[in-house]
Formats: sequence, structure tokens, C-alpha cells
Amino acid sequence: MPELSVSDILSRALSGAPQARISPEEALFLLRNASLDELTAAAREIKSRRHGANVVGYTLFQVVNYTNVCRIGCSFCSFCRKSEDADRWTLTPSQLRAKGLGAKSRGARQIFLQGGVNPAFGLEKAEEALRLFAGELGMEVRGFSPAELLGFAETSGLPLETVLRRLKAAGLSSVPGAGAEVLSDRVRAILSPRKPSTAEWLRTMEACHREGLRGTANIVFGSVETDEEVVEHLRLVRELQDRTGGFHSFVAWTFQPQTRNFPIRDVSPGEYLRTVALCRLFLDNVDHVEVSLLGMGPELGMRALRGGGDDVNSVVLEENVLKSRAPTTVAGMEELLRGEGFVPQFRAFDFSDMERPADAP
Ligand code: SF4
Repeated sequence: MPELSVSDILSRALSGAPQARISPEEALFLLRNASLDELTAAAREIKSRRHGANVVGYTLFQVVNYTNVCRIGCSFCSFCRKSEDADRWTLTPSQLRAKGLGAKSRGARQIFLQGGVNPAFGLEKAEEALRLFAGELGMEVRGFSPAELLGFAETSGLPLETVLRRLKAAGLSSVPGAGAEVLSDRVRAILSPRKPSTAEWLRTMEACHREGLRGTANIVFGSVETDEEVVEHLRLVRELQDRTGGFHSFVAWTFQPQTRNFPIRDVSPGEYLRTVALCRLFLDNVDHVEVSLLGMGPELGMRALRGGGDDVNSVVLEENVLKSRAPTTVAGMEELLRGEGFVPQFRAFDFSDMERPADAP
């Protein structure tokens, strides 16, 4: 096998030639040997060719955490409660309606439904919530991680595909691909042994895509994962994308110190930026690379936009898991982006361009 060279790998990736795709071995080599400047410059070039140098997408959705009860109990999660805990909650239909109306009054037309895996909140309740948001209130709804979707299948006794068809018919339009963390069963056994395995996560996302529920994918790093496992995660996502084309975007998050129950390490700004750049270079079949303003903060987020990212996800209207430092209004997001020389482009969940809502503050 010829000796690997950073400049050879990057120039081939930038050539756009057939066979230009970076192999997993090359990705690992880049992660360990390329300088930050080399990686981000190449990623920025690819981003510019696809989306223009300065255009940055963003959207405005309301996160609706419909329940904090979860039977999975991931070690890093401070949000979940057991069904017998005094501070558990599940939103009633009227509380869900109030959330939707509140979001609309702040200009949001999109809802992100996210909860724990609560056996008492089954498929019918999920359909009811979707009919409320999508049907009655006319909003676009993304929601439900593979763990939640598999939970609906388990409690209803129905095949996953039937569950997905019913949710889609009730108004679900896309899925977040959440709960991937690192697609390594070794890592999952340490951090979240009751969560769907790597194979179950991939199978669920593939079923979503085949049923017309496209969405996003992510990685959450900064714990016990190795470089090899990060690259393997990206390989699995790229291969699934080759089969289905169902991912609009990919986002790299870092674990946040929500609890003290799991091994967490500091991710330096350089490591975050290198990872975002590698995602752009390796995931040549995923259109958009989002940066995480919510987790990394606006300053580092802006640097990541100069190193391969093209989207900042959403203005944060409500978030019950992380304490946000990201803009909380459309005007604030546009000011942040324009101040850094970017051109903000409001978008839908499917990344199509949309008019910025006139009534959004
Ligand atoms: S599945 Fe989600 S809500 Fe449940 S414990 Fe894990 S991260 Fe928390």
C-alpha cells in the first residue's frame, strides 16, 4: 500500500475526480496528521463549491419535550426521570396546544418533538400530538429519535414500518436521527447500554428514509470513543446515505457535562473544528454540515462555519436539556451571522429556502 500523504489525500478529495472519495483509512490519517489549517481550508473549499462561500442556513423551531419519563436511562442524560419519580411530567393535549400556539406567536412554523422513551406515551398519543401540530396548527413537525420510534413499535406491538407510516400519515415530516452518539457498541455499552444498538439505530434510520421520512444525522463525541470509532461512525453514516440518500445534514456535537455519571473529556476548539472539517470532507454524499451553536457557543460556531459548516440549525426558542448561549431571536441570529460576513438564509426542515417569517422577532 502506498504511503499516505495529507496533501495527496486532500488534493484528490478536492479534484472532484472519480475515485476521489476519502477512504476510512485516509480519514483516520487526516484526523491524526493533517494540520487544522489544512483540514479547514479543504473543507471550506468544498463547502464554497456546494453552497457559496458565505451563505449560512438557519431555521426557527420550537423544541417540545413532551415527556421527561424515559426507561432507557443513558448515563449522560440529566433530562430523564423514572416513571415513579415525583418530578416526572408528560404534557397534556392542552399543554401541547399551548406550546404550539406560543411557538406560532413567536414566528415559528416548525416543531421539534422530543421526549424520553415513555411506555405510557404510546403511538396513539404521538399521533394525537402530530395531528394537533401538523393538522390543526398547520406546522411542520420533525420528531422522535430511533429509541422513541422503537419504543412506539414495542408498546403497540406493530412493525416499525407500520408505526412510521402511521406517524407520517398523522403529520410527521422528518426525523432527527438523534441518539446516535457514537455508533460503536463498545461505546454504547459504557454510556447507554439500554439504548438501541448500532445496528438497530441504522436499521431504524434506514426504515425512516424508505418510508419518506428524511432527516439528519449526528455524532456526539468527547467521551471514551477512539479516533477509529469516530471514523467508523462516519463510515456507517456514509454507507447508509449511499443506500438511501435520506440525510439532509450531519452535525457534530460534543458531550455536555449534564451529569457526573459518565466519562467526559474536554474537547478543545481545535479538535471540534478538525472534526467538523473531517465530516465535510468524508461525508461527500451529505449536502449540509451543521455547526452546533447550542453546544459550542457562537464564537466557535462562527469559526466552524469558516471550516466546512454551512448551517447553524435553529434559533433557540426553548431547550430543556442544555443551557443555551445561542441567539434566541431571528433578528439576533441574523445580526450574529451578518456581523461575521455571512449571508443568512432562512430554511425549512428539508433545507429548502423559505421566506423569513415576518412576525418572528
Ligand atoms: S434515551 Fe434520550 S431521554 Fe432517554 S435517557 Fe437516553 S438521552 Fe435521556
